[in-house]
Amino acid sequence: MTISPNALCFGDEFPATGAPCLVQIEAHGLTVTYAPDQDGAESRSESVCFSELSVSAGGLNHDQLVLHWAGSTGQKTLYLKNPDVIRAFRQMAPDHMSRPLEQAAEQVRQARQRHRVVWGLVSGTVLVVVLGLWFGSDALVELAVNRIPVEWEQKLGESAYREFLAGQDVTKDGLAVAAVKEMTQRLASHVPNNPYRFEVTVVKSDVVNAFALPGGYVVVFTGLMKKAESPEEVAGVLAHELNHVLQRHGLERIIKQLGFVAVVSIVLGNPPGLGGVMKQLGVELMTLKFGRAQETEADTTGLDLLYRAKINPEGMITFFQRLAEKDEGRVEWLSTHPMSSARADHLKARLAEMPKQKAEPFSFEWPKVREVLGASSGSAP
Ligand SMILES: [Zn+2]
Repeated sequence: MTISPNALCFGDEFPATGAPCLVQIEAHGLTVTYAPDQDGAESRSESVCFSELSVSAGGLNHDQLVLHWAGSTGQKTLYLKNPDVIRAFRQMAPDHMSRPLEQAAEQVRQARQRHRVVWGLVSGTVLVVVLGLWFGSDALVELAVNRIPVEWEQKLGESAYREFLAGQDVTKDGLAVAAVKEMTQRLASHVPNNPYRFEVTVVKSDVVNAFALPGGYVVVFTGLMKKAESPEEVAGVLAHELNHVLQRHGLERIIKQLGFVAVVSIVLGNPPGLGGVMKQLGVELMTLKFGRAQETEADTTGLDLLYRAKINPEGMITFFQRLAEKDEGRVEWLSTHPMSSARADHLKARLAEMPKQKAEPFSFEWPKVREVLGASSGSAP
C-alpha cells in the first residue's frame, strides 16, 4: 500500500535524512505509518499514546511542532509542519499537554512574526529602491535637499570658501570691491524671503570667472570684471550665480554625487550624520558642474531678478555673447557655462515679453573701476 507522508520522523533505525511518514491524530494519540522501504517491504505503523509524548517547537525556522518519545527501538523525533495536522494535534491533546503545547505554539507564532518583519523590511527596501529608480532619483534628490537646513549648507559652503581664498590674492577694499558689493546688495534686496546672507570676494586674477558656493559665498575674479564693458554685464553674471545658490543647485549636485544611499539616508535619517562626508567635498565643490536644466533655471531666474532690481538685463545677454566669442585668455566661466546661441535667444525672447522699464544706474563710475583694475582705458579688450 502507498501512503502520502505529511511528516518526517528521525531515529536510530532511520536514515540520517529522516523517514517520511503519515501521521494520523486519534483519541489515544498518534498513529504513525512509515513509507515502505526501497526493497518493497510492507509499510508499518506505530501507535504512540499522548502520555508518552513531549512537545517543543523546532525546524530550521522554529515553525514546526516537534514531538519526542522513547520508542521500542530508541528515541524518536517527529517533525510536524502541516498546519492541519498541527491543529488536529492541539485539539485532541489531553490537558496535561496544553501548557508545553501552548509554549511551542507561541514559539512558532513568534518565528512566523519574525519572518513577517524581515520580509516587510526587505520588501520596504526594494520598494524605496524601485521608487528611486522610477523617479530617476530627481524627486528624491529634491526631497533630500529640502531636508537640509540652510545653516548646514552655509557651514559646508563657508569651509570650502575659506579654504579656496587662503590660496588666492584677495582684493580687500577699493572701488572694485565696493562696486561688486553694491551690485550684490541691490540684487539680494529684491529676493523675497531670502534665507542667505551673500558674501562676495573679489580675487585678483586674470582668469575670467565667477562662481557661487552653497550657502551664498560668491567669488568674482578681476579678469571677469576687466572684460565687462558695463557694470550691468557683471551684474548679469552675478544674478546668474546668485540664483544657483537660491535654487540650491550646488546642494543638488553634491547629493547626486554622494549617491542614492546618501539620499535615502538624508530623507529617512538625520542630515548632520553626513557632515563628515560633506567636508571632504570641499575641493569638488570648486569644480562642480551644473546640469543643463540648472543653467537654464539660473539664466531665467537671473534675468527676472535683474529686471526686478531695475538693472538693465541687456547686459547679461551681451556679456554672455561676448564671452562666447573666440579670443585669447582663459575664460574659465565658459568651461562651466557653455554658451550657445539658443541660450542667448532664450533670454532675448524672455526679455522681449517683459514690459519695458527704465533701468536705474549704479552709484559708481564703471570706467574708474576698470582703471583701478588695470584694464586698458577706452573700450574693453
Ligand atoms: Zn551657471
